[in-house]
Amino acid sequence: MNNFTFHNPTTLHFGQGQLEKLTAEVPKYGKNVLLVYGGGSIKQNGIYTNVVHILKGLDVNIFELSGVEPNPRLTTVHRGVEMCRNQNIDLILAVGGGSVIDCAKAIAVGAKYEGDFWDIVTRKASATGALPLGTVLTIAATGSEMNSGSVITNWETKEKLGWGSPFSFPKFSILDPAHTTSLPENQTVYGMVDIMSHVFEQYFHHTTNTPLQDGFCETILRTVIDTAPRLLRDLDDLEERATILYSGTMALNGVLSMGVRGDWATHNLEHAVSAVHDIPHGGGLAILFPNWMTYTLDANVARFKQFAQNVFDIDAIDKSDRQVAEEGIAALREFFASIGAPSRLSDYDIDDSTIELMADKAMVYGDFGNFKKLTREDVVSIYRMSL
Ligand code: NAP
Ligand code: FE
Repeated sequence: MNNFTFHNPTTLHFGQGQLEKLTAEVPKYGKNVLLVYGGGSIKQNGIYTNVVHILKGLDVNIFELSGVEPNPRLTTVHRGVEMCRNQNIDLILAVGGGSVIDCAKAIAVGAKYEGDFWDIVTRKASATGALPLGTVLTIAATGSEMNSGSVITNWETKEKLGWGSPFSFPKFSILDPAHTTSLPENQTVYGMVDIMSHVFEQYFHHTTNTPLQDGFCETILRTVIDTAPRLLRDLDDLEERATILYSGTMALNGVLSMGVRGDWATHNLEHAVSAVHDIPHGGGLAILFPNWMTYTLDANVARFKQFAQNVFDIDAIDKSDRQVAEEGIAALREFFASIGAPSRLSDYDIDDSTIELMADKAMVYGDFGNFKKLTREDVVSIYRMSL
């Protein structure tokens, strides 16, 4: 394994009733709280009422930024930054999914940066600080609640880019599985696909001697695969919701990356699709990941064989390594189909007319991916396989 330094400063409050922890957390940071949320789900499921009720008991001033889009946009970040400056905000409280949290991270960092926040996303400038950020997570998916990453879309230039900084970790995150029971089936599926995809991005590497890392990854994958059908039979099941919620955080809070160099090409491929077509992140990943696997299989057949055997229990007797590896990828396709995930870009009415444009967007920083370096030609091939 490689050398590594691990640091994750986010305090996690996990479990039913943990929303009460706002009472202890919020006053640490000051009086003026900017509540950031999305398109209204928290008003329908009662989370908004509960959060505001607790805040009202704390003698704080509440300001609101609502309407954060799924695939959050730069224009909304700008609005939030303005509010932080005008209202002297002390704490940003993001209540929602990865989109709301990612947007809140951008606002927190943007509020401390003199220039245009997009400079930080496009690596022209570095973050110089951040307002404190707390989160109340309502969907198991991104891991944004316990990492420093964020993905922002510039709809004018059709770019969707990830960024991060040591300043953008949430100070605290509250994860109550009961907050996720109102999530509809399709979003639940997208979330589980995203969780598995985060594990894949870190599992497919060439670093040797990583038995503990491999075991962590394989356990999360097996757990999601095992839990998914039960959860989809009963979306209100709090035990299954809790398992998926915990899996989502552990899949992308830095633990799986210790001592390995992950790939992250498929996330890049997906961001380019979303940048042009504004599709759900998890839906795009369900389409692209099996095709990325088929395309890159020869970069390390042994790795895919291990995946097939340890995650899907594929039997290796009398089979070549390649055959076992291919059966593992086929099992993943079957699993995604069994939970109702999309499998083709045409499921989102995407045809070959935008492949070149998506490839342009994916190549913005040149060739990418560590498991297999993808060139523009590779990118176009994977999109074509995914049509
Ligand atoms: P999301 O975009 O935050 O939310 C998807 C939808 O689910 C929204 O329409 C939202 O509605 C709804 N929703 C959320 N919680 C709900 C609940 N409890 N009940 C009913 N509806 C609910 O989904 P996400 O997958 O968490 O975030 C996706 C974004 O994160 C993408 O932009 C992706 O690229 C990015 N991402 C970030 C990271 C990271 O590490 N930071 C990693 C991977 C992906 P409302 O708007 O009405 O609330
Ligand atoms: Fe993701």
